[in-house]
Amino acid sequence: MSDTQEKVIQIAGSITVDELASALGLSVTTLIGQLFKEGIVATINQRLDYDTASIIIEELGIENVKLEKKNSATKISDNHRELSDKAVERPPVVAVMGHVDHGKTTLLDTLLNKKTVEHEAGGITQHISAYQLEHEGRKITFLDTPGHEAFAAIRQHGAMLTDIVVIVVAADDGVKPQTVEAIKFAQSANAKIIVAINKIDREGADIPRTMADLSQHGLQPEEWGGDITMVPISAKLGQNLNKLLDMILLIADMEELKADVDIPAEGLVIESHMETGKGSVVNLLVTGGELKTGEFIVAGSTYAKIRTMVDFKGRPKGKALPSTPVTVTGFKELPDFGDKFVEVADEKTARRQALLNAQGAADASASANVTSSDLLRMMNTADNSKVFNVLIKGDVLGSVTSVVDSLKMIDTHGEITLNIVATGVGDVTENDVYMATGGNTVIYGFNVTVPTNIAKMAARDNVPIRCYKVIYELLDDAKSEMENLLDAEIVEEEVGEMKIEGVFRTEKTSIIAGGEMLTGKVFSSVLGRVFHNKEEIGEVEVTSVQKEKMDVPELVAGEIGGLALKTEHKINLAIGDRIKFFTREEKKRKL
Ligand code: GDP
Repeated sequence: MSDTQEKVIQIAGSITVDELASALGLSVTTLIGQLFKEGIVATINQRLDYDTASIIIEELGIENVKLEKKNSATKISDNHRELSDKAVERPPVVAVMGHVDHGKTTLLDTLLNKKTVEHEAGGITQHISAYQLEHEGRKITFLDTPGHEAFAAIRQHGAMLTDIVVIVVAADDGVKPQTVEAIKFAQSANAKIIVAINKIDREGADIPRTMADLSQHGLQPEEWGGDITMVPISAKLGQNLNKLLDMILLIADMEELKADVDIPAEGLVIESHMETGKGSVVNLLVTGGELKTGEFIVAGSTYAKIRTMVDFKGRPKGKALPSTPVTVTGFKELPDFGDKFVEVADEKTARRQALLNAQGAADASASANVTSSDLLRMMNTADNSKVFNVLIKGDVLGSVTSVVDSLKMIDTHGEITLNIVATGVGDVTENDVYMATGGNTVIYGFNVTVPTNIAKMAARDNVPIRCYKVIYELLDDAKSEMENLLDAEIVEEEVGEMKIEGVFRTEKTSIIAGGEMLTGKVFSSVLGRVFHNKEEIGEVEVTSVQKEKMDVPELVAGEIGGLALKTEHKINLAIGDRIKFFTREEKKRKL
């Protein structure tokens, strides 16, 4: 019908408002105006991802333009590789998860005799994120996730790392919200589940009830014909832990966990931080190949020539095989938690690959300032959305990522938009307070401190700074801040009904009338809806109650009495009308 030629706009990851406007032949202001209508306050340099650009073009009613995704050449390959015939057995990678206080840390401590480890390591590694121990001459790798810090992040980045999830459930407390979360995580990560029913030394411990509780959540114990191994333990007294380890190895055997070793080394960054005198200190978990000191590896947009490599106890290690956690130095810049690393031939390749990855990341839609999910969220919440601004500081990148991920997981039913103003590693600084000033922003610190002068400055500028060491406390605080932003819920409760038998005075905003209580009761301060022939004609508030001309606290069903009523507008109350009384309360809502 139309002879207008279709125009193709290629988008490699994202496109700026300026570029899109000129490609569409529109003025920047028209485009910004349209974005604004969709709830996006955009600037000329704002990047939009492919989906957002498509939606905007559609909303603008432009038909002769076709968007095309241009693939960026530097996609980082997936971690799930096909194994060769030469693949060898590797230790299982185990994550310990469960509800707070159910004993995850105690279990890891007891299993790994952490106290001696810490002693040996001389406190150099505060944040060991994975350990290995030997049982029956075989190795087991544990990812350290106490306090759930790494929980959310592992869900995102490390799902493929975890072979087995040990779900710790306290026998005296049963299944709790984070137990359910752990079950869901394990299932979504396709990991095998073992349940450690903990604290069996406690008086209130009830193993059968805990099992019943678990089977309600889809985990059927083997004892009852199901397929989930449940081991009753006492993490504190070290009871039955060998059995637990036996079971882990048994499951590992059934799963036939293998990895190739004759390929370039690869794996995941599981922690990274700066240390004085050492520079970047990075914990890696090798998932394939054999990692050696002196080799070059690329992780995200940075690379390293591995200068030193130590095991989790701080002992030097020349090489590391799959499933081994190691700590290395030599990275030029800190890689991100969850970044994949791969070994490359030489420094030149490493530098080039890191650069390509950096460009790839800049191209990727993840870096677009506005993504389609933001847009959809904004569209859904356009008018009544409330924004919760936060600035997050953490001791290491991993904790910042985990806090951000966990905050994003708080379900606000689309009513509240979480706006992360900034994130960073290290103590709270003057610049953080500066950024948070005047913007209704809460600064959350995780495992960091606030220098006194900064605390004073924040107090002066009314910037709340909250520091936590336990992620759930931080999340609870954030949740309650968000709940404060929610509109209160109005709860009404019916209390009684009266049939009007006499109207003694009707003024503009007050009425005196009498009648018989049919049901319930009436008392001062309750509200009432007036019905005339079943049609509601107004609302009243009871200011006083009388019986036989005496003030009384209330009238109950069957009694006859008089009421003084307050109204906002004049109501023509008549004999035979009914008033249904109710109380109205504003209730703070929960998320
Ligand atoms: P997490 O939050 O899951 O890491 O829990 P913790 O390991 O910090 O344990 C919470 C509390 O439970 C601590 O006071 C532990 O001493 C206690 N606890 C852990 N395991 C056991 C156990 O097997 N028996 C008893 N009696 N207490 C335990």
